[in-house]
Amino acid sequence: MQQPPETPAPATESAAHPMAVADRVAILGEKDRVARLGRIRQFVFGSLDGLLVPLGVVSGVAGGTGNIHAVIVAGLAEAFAGALSMGAGEFLSGRAEAQVQQAEVAAELQRVRSAPEYEFNEMIVILESEGVRPEDARVIAQRLHKNPPAFEKTMVEKELGLDIEPDTVRIGDSLTMGGSYILASIVPLVAYFFLPLQQAFLVSLALTFVVLAAIGIFRGRLAKLNLFKSAVEVVLVGSVSGLGGYLLGIWLPKLLGY
Ligand SMILES: [Zn+2]
Repeated sequence: MQQPPETPAPATESAAHPMAVADRVAILGEKDRVARLGRIRQFVFGSLDGLLVPLGVVSGVAGGTGNIHAVIVAGLAEAFAGALSMGAGEFLSGRAEAQVQQAEVAAELQRVRSAPEYEFNEMIVILESEGVRPEDARVIAQRLHKNPPAFEKTMVEKELGLDIEPDTVRIGDSLTMGGSYILASIVPLVAYFFLPLQQAFLVSLALTFVVLAAIGIFRGRLAKLNLFKSAVEVVLVGSVSGLGGYLLGIWLPKLLGY
């Protein structure tokens, strides 16, 4: 049994904190800021889907029926159904992910409590693997061990790579997904409200390309990428998938005899 020896902390350490309160608040807010930036995934996913699926639907209905009223009805129905389903899908999938993580965290915390000695040695191994010298790793593990919540949190974050309290209700993520979808789906549809069918079809296609490029530029700015390359990548991937869907949409019904 290796009980961590007592090593009293220097009294001055807690008295004079090296950082001002405002700086500390800013540091603790960084995680939330990065988490919000992580919603770029839901934004790109939702808006790309919201552009391409309605574009396929309105173009298909326009080409197939030549009836602008049918185009608008189909486009609106698709936009709302799509946004709700994407939002709900994001909510449920994020929740499922967090619930699996919660179970893993609970099992780890159970191990920390039932086998404290093993977990103490495990902490030393984990710290060493991060480049802490063995003698320092032992000292850090001992200090953490005296602060159980900090020990548990560090163990979960370092060993499992998880948050100790996974967020099981991710409203922001699902709103980002559904909101991006509904906003994007206006783009391929809007021209049909104002123009005759032939022109609307072309304007709808052109607007979709412009917005695809804009999404690429926006993503490039957030991710600090080359803006041109980022725009081209989104336009290319979007076009290939849109064209594929369009061609399949034309050929498949014919193949099936419709
Ligand atoms: Zn562990």
